[in-house]
Amino acid sequence: MEKGDFLYEGKAKKIFHTDDPSLFLVEFKDDATAFDGVKKDKLADKGILNNRLSAIFFELLEKNGVETHYREMLSEREMLVKALEIIPVEVIVRNIAAGSLSKRLGIPEGTVMKETVLEFSLKDDELHDPMINHYHIYAMELAAPEEMAEIEKKALRVNEILVPYLKAKGIILVDFKLEFGRHKGKILLGDEISPDTCRFWDSKSREKLDKDRFRRDMGGVVEAYREVLRRLEGGESPAVES
Ligand code: UDP
Repeated sequence: MEKGDFLYEGKAKKIFHTDDPSLFLVEFKDDATAFDGVKKDKLADKGILNNRLSAIFFELLEKNGVETHYREMLSEREMLVKALEIIPVEVIVRNIAAGSLSKRLGIPEGTVMKETVLEFSLKDDELHDPMINHYHIYAMELAAPEEMAEIEKKALRVNEILVPYLKAKGIILVDFKLEFGRHKGKILLGDEISPDTCRFWDSKSREKLDKDRFRRDMGGVVEAYREVLRRLEGGESPAVES
């Protein structure tokens, strides 16, 4: 597979064309950003860890019937993916209150939500990814109602698969962000699944094993990502019952 022309650079990844127009190459960078890019740093090996972790999660999801853009890892920083037309709606799934939800609604961090909460944000850095609802999504023609129904179902299914899988590894899945896109008439899960886009807490100590260590200047960011990888690589993952 030939790495083709550069297509796009995001905060944590670069996307390239390949010699197959239906496939893109994703390169995971070491750049870390928070607060809309105001806080920036380079964390050695973060890109390598996020590539590997995303590959593990995408493989697990595929094994459990959730179609993703993932094809294969090409190198320690590179992943081959199906080319998506990204739907500019970030889907946030929350099991436990944290971050912006705690601030916005005054729910103390760590409170278990009685039901899984789904939220949507417009994927637009200049506007700081504002929260939107279905009315905005349809009025702005970001996605059709049938597409949103499918996206919500897939997002909840991803949560159903990841929560018990991570629990078995001693990790609580607090919340995470997903992105979806269109590929050959289907909606596929895209982007990445990593400690950059999820909140992971150690089940016993509740220690943070994710990007909050960077956001909150706690140190040990890469060490925490490495610990997540160590736990995930520690054992085989059985298929999850539906
Ligand atoms: N998240 C993300 N990208 C974003 C916003 C949020 O990956 O642009 C993830 C974040 O890592 C967390 C979840 O989505 O796992 C919920 O984030 P929250 O809304 O609490 O925002 P934050 O506290 O990061 O501002």
